[in-house]
Amino acid sequence: MPEITRLVPKEKKGLIVVITGNGKGKTTSALGIAVRACGHDMRVSIIQFMKGDLYAGEWDGIKKMDCKVELIPTGKGFCGIQGNPYPHEEHRKNAQDAIQLACQKMESGRFDILILDEINNALKLRLVDLEQVLEIIQRKPPLMHLVLTGRDAHPEIIESADTVSEINEIKHAYRKEIEPQPGIDY
Ligand code: ATP
Ligand code: MG
Repeated sequence: MPEITRLVPKEKKGLIVVITGNGKGKTTSALGIAVRACGHDMRVSIIQFMKGDLYAGEWDGIKKMDCKVELIPTGKGFCGIQGNPYPHEEHRKNAQDAIQLACQKMESGRFDILILDEINNALKLRLVDLEQVLEIIQRKPPLMHLVLTGRDAHPEIIESADTVSEINEIKHAYRKEIEPQPGIDY
């Protein structure tokens, strides 16, 4: 084993990271950030928008990790998707509660990283307003990292971010009518 060097930035800065695009891997990428942060003993809060109806392994996976990462699924599943029975107003109410929760987490000063999973979709579906997301970005504590995931990221959010990745679909098993698989898809 080589000697391990631990880099320390000369100047610490809280980044705004956007992970968007129509390919698979946005939420898993954000969860990867949480795993990495755990190694640095950093405190992470993950708020998932429009989730809560379909079990995902990360809900328990995070609890099993010996870390300062919390994950809070909110909502009642994907608004507008076939088979989702809840009206838009109910999805909006849930997403509005999630925004308030995100503000509380951010203002508590208790977290080094705040991850808002699927917030881009929530904005696209008008469950939250652009002004609300921009306000979170503006009020972000200088050292806290903010990660925003989901398809169709708004141009103004992309503009405000430091790092933006667009995950493009080259292939997805879904196209071959392969069902979502645990560990990979949820
Ligand atoms: P993951 O949660 O696997 O990282 P994601 O966050 O990039 O995926 P979402 O748009 O949140 O993608 O979709 C969540 C679910 O839909 C996942 O089970 C994922 O495998 C699946 N999915 C992602 N991209 C596609 C696609 N292009 N076509 C069909 N299903 C997809
Ligand atoms: Mg996702």
